[in-house]
Amino acid sequence: MSVMEAVAKTKFAELTFDEKLDRLAEVAVKVGLGLRAGQELIMSAPIEALPLVRRITEHAYKAGALLVTTFYSDDPSVLARYEYGADASFDYAPKWLHDGIAEGFRSGAARLAIAGANPALLAKQDPAKVARANVAASKAGKPAMELITRHEINWTIVACATPEWAKLVFPGEPEHIAVAKLWEAIFVSSRVAVDDPVAEWKEHGARLKKRMDMLNAKRFSALHFKGPGTDLKVGLADDHLWAGGGTTAGNGVYCQPNIPTEECFTTPHKDRVDGTVKASKPLSHQGTLIENIAVRFEGGKIVEATATAGEDVLNRLISTDDGARRLGEVALVPHSSPIAQSGVLFWNTLFDENAASHIALGQAYSTCLIGGEKMDAAQLAALGANASLIHVDWMIGSGEMDVDGVAADGTAEPLMRRGEWV
Ligand code: ZN
Ligand code: ZN
Repeated sequence: MSVMEAVAKTKFAELTFDEKLDRLAEVAVKVGLGLRAGQELIMSAPIEALPLVRRITEHAYKAGALLVTTFYSDDPSVLARYEYGADASFDYAPKWLHDGIAEGFRSGAARLAIAGANPALLAKQDPAKVARANVAASKAGKPAMELITRHEINWTIVACATPEWAKLVFPGEPEHIAVAKLWEAIFVSSRVAVDDPVAEWKEHGARLKKRMDMLNAKRFSALHFKGPGTDLKVGLADDHLWAGGGTTAGNGVYCQPNIPTEECFTTPHKDRVDGTVKASKPLSHQGTLIENIAVRFEGGKIVEATATAGEDVLNRLISTDDGARRLGEVALVPHSSPIAQSGVLFWNTLFDENAASHIALGQAYSTCLIGGEKMDAAQLAALGANASLIHVDWMIGSGEMDVDGVAADGTAEPLMRRGEWV
């Protein structure tokens, strides 16, 4: 029985669409954010997500929110910039806005992002302009982003099916069918298509924590990935810490930063990654699908990178800065995750990274090092944590991937066989 067939047999299948949407909103506020009474909420969303935004806003105020403020984005308006904007526009980002949001976080606001923008929106735009706009946005957004990546505040991301995204995921379907299918896939992947989603998330979180505790107790010095086209040794950073599922943010609030989440992840050592690796799924990066990525690492650094499509985007990406050729994350995800089982390529990292074990180029999470939240850049680098303006996950796991944990003395222990936990 497929995941979708199993869901068709639950009470969830009998709910109206509005009731289903309300379940997702409730999970976003109660599980994702763990929003506290008196806390401000800053939300960002595509304009098409308005019905979900309204549901989330209701749940937030019911939970005692001080004020809910939403910033909307609009895909056609983004395209207008590329079509008519002056050249200088692509090196500019509204620092004043990002600083204001950072100030909001520092004074206690939680953050919720709704994903749903068309992943292929910028596919036909000048990649150099796209890269410049991203660098400008990353620089301006750094103070706010640091509060998020350091988990100083409670935050979460949930998704909303939008027409352009849905048509990309389900090509050939009429728009309304594609949107309905994408919504079902989001509900199933986000673990809300069950009778009691809040209880389900409690159990799911406990299961992830058990894996994490096991990995943290083992203190492996490296992971060894073996699969078709892959023979990769990923050294782990000294004092690395595995994370996954929920986290207690610096403000003391317990939150689930990603909905869905199926991964246990940690910080690789930026200088100790060697071997070859082949992506198991296409990587959708800023509107371009990069297909069949194959990469060779030497001493932590990519020395060879190819792709059968989007190779120029890949090369531009790894040339962003010094850290863009090195790893900032390694994550284990079983092939039996509901996202993998849905068989859907979402064109969105929030989902696709939870379908397979993966690695990420670029910035490491300081929270994945013992005491890392309080360390400065030099201390983090000394332990092997990578630094970069980018953080891009790409999928390497599959039902054919074996993973060993390698101890400091070189002895290997099977962690995953054919994509499943041993
Ligand atoms: Zn990840
Ligand atoms: Zn990542």
